[in-house]
Amino acid sequence: MDENNPRARRRWSRRAMLAGAGGAAAGALTVGAGWWAAGDDAATSTAMLPTADRLGHALLWTTLGTMSGPTGSSARAQPANLLHDGEHAIVVDAGDGMVDQLVKADVALTSVQTVVLSHLHIDHTAGLLGLVGRRLQQFISTPLMVFGPPGTAQEIERIQGSLQGLVELMSTGGRRLPPPSFGITVQEITDGATVTLGPVRLTAATNSHYGFAPGTPEATRFQSLSYRFDMPDRAIVFTGDTGPCPNVERLARGADLLVSEIDDPDAALEQVEATRPDLPAAAIPALREHFDSQHLSATNVGLLARAAGVGAVVLTHNPLDDARIAAARPQIAANFAGPVAVANDLDNW
Ligand SMILES: [Zn+2]
Ligand SMILES: [Zn+2]
Repeated sequence: MDENNPRARRRWSRRAMLAGAGGAAAGALTVGAGWWAAGDDAATSTAMLPTADRLGHALLWTTLGTMSGPTGSSARAQPANLLHDGEHAIVVDAGDGMVDQLVKADVALTSVQTVVLSHLHIDHTAGLLGLVGRRLQQFISTPLMVFGPPGTAQEIERIQGSLQGLVELMSTGGRRLPPPSFGITVQEITDGATVTLGPVRLTAATNSHYGFAPGTPEATRFQSLSYRFDMPDRAIVFTGDTGPCPNVERLARGADLLVSEIDDPDAALEQVEATRPDLPAAAIPALREHFDSQHLSATNVGLLARAAGVGAVVLTHNPLDDARIAAARPQIAANFAGPVAVANDLDNW
């Protein structure tokens, strides 16, 4: 492996993982992500956590795509993550282009056994068509379990339905038919559900991203979930998309790592006003409310991290440019004194 090639350094393989933290192959997983802690200046903001600690984990968390959607970015892919140990590969959210991000991470489609979806906004699901379709066209029918909130089964059924023409094409000339299920099983989960996935215990918690009042039909039908991944050596909590939410604080309590979304409501509104002059002025307060209560500002990321008592924070689902990130840093640090890092695509944690 070329140690000077950043992409090569991010790659993983079963061989590399089995080599252990002390092996040269595992050492090659080092990433250049910049950690910072309260009080550090930018010049000293790297490697605030010991590299060996991160690389010695039983499973690595890879931020496959770190942009907030659905807006595109030339620098960041749409939201997607991977939790893996070379044997188990769990995709967590499947933004557009997720399959190609797996390719860049050197992860074969056949090794993905599980997909976990936080919610069904398109920036978290558009990659499912690529995953299901490419499995189909490559005759991959190894078992794939998809977990997600209510509506996930219908989402997968509709994707499979959209591929029916391809199924019929592939079935011509006496070729073997792909299985009707494409090898895929769906399990819808909701608040408090726990699932054992090999060495990982998954726990779901509803969050405030959709903003429906509790007890309403909409709050039952449309649910956005945050997840906790308890593993032999650490716990990672993934916020998905959420606003401030006591249920997420409870889920994250004592976690080693909080993988959190971040937003900048002021910047988001400025962008809307600059790029969407067609929107009526009356729409702006509702948008402000959305950005404030259904996503996490830097201040609210810090408050969540402190309330939950997590060990460290990784920021993703991130639309902030460098200047906005620099401004966000003290806002997080005002409430959370632990290490914080900004994830880039294909970083390992
Ligand atoms: Zn999103
Ligand atoms: Zn969303």
